[in-house]
Amino acid sequence: MQQRALTRFAPTPSGFLHLGNIFSFAITNAIAHQSGAELLLRIDDLDRERMRPEYVNDIFETLHFLGIQWKRGPNDAADFEQHFSQLHRTTLYQEKLDQLHNKGLLFACNCSRTQLLADNKEGVYSGRCRHKQIPLNTPGVNLRIYTDDRTIKVNSCDGTQVNTTLHPSMKDFVVRKKDDMAAYQLASLADDIHFGVDLIVRGTDLWPSTLAQLYLADVLEEQTFQDTAFFHHALIPNSNGEKLSKSAGDTSIRFWREKGYAGQAVLSMLARHSGLEKEPASWEALCEAITHCSWFPR
Ligand SMILES: [Zn+2]
Repeated sequence: MQQRALTRFAPTPSGFLHLGNIFSFAITNAIAHQSGAELLLRIDDLDRERMRPEYVNDIFETLHFLGIQWKRGPNDAADFEQHFSQLHRTTLYQEKLDQLHNKGLLFACNCSRTQLLADNKEGVYSGRCRHKQIPLNTPGVNLRIYTDDRTIKVNSCDGTQVNTTLHPSMKDFVVRKKDDMAAYQLASLADDIHFGVDLIVRGTDLWPSTLAQLYLADVLEEQTFQDTAFFHHALIPNSNGEKLSKSAGDTSIRFWREKGYAGQAVLSMLARHSGLEKEPASWEALCEAITHCSWFPR
């Protein structure tokens, strides 16, 4: 495993944390431990429609409940709001958008969601507004980036490298949303550069996002981010064999917490879900057990 400086837990406060989030945190923690990286807690609250203060509170309550520790980032919800909310970094995001604009890479798109889905059921952008020359300052439009099929290099934390191209679902991806807020891909990249993150652990569902963020880093000549090491882990299934999601309320940690379960019981549940043989006595023990799984990066 390569030596690294900083990785992050980056939950979105758009639902209560569930076992899948904690599984991802455990892998992140285990890889951080082995690569010497510190942990940053980064809460992405730029999606104002979906974020709710109770979800921000839930992140801190759940992490404390399970005995999960982190070195950098907010200590509690008040600290988060005062010092770490993404709303404090909008200038940073705007700088990146200005750079893209100066390179002539942005175009405005006024397609509705219905229109986009009518054009392509899988959400692949048809390029409908590519040549419309809609003024970028038109209110209520998405700003997209003209993408091409350049090669994107993805470095893995085991030292291997994959050469690929942007995922089809990310064609001309949105960099600023209709509400004038930076889109996830751009804000996440800007934040990782800002904090000095050089190791990113996330589920395979975020593979297209990894490629979009590396694409942006290439366009913006952000070499440090291009050298970031990645690990994409499989998602754990719930008891019905379905991918865990925040909408499935019964898998939220809050649900078990309010039922009076101890943190350790929830960690045991997670160990069973993720196929570990022994029940861990603590968060540290769970993370240690994960390092012995066959899929764990070396
Ligand atoms: Zn459009």
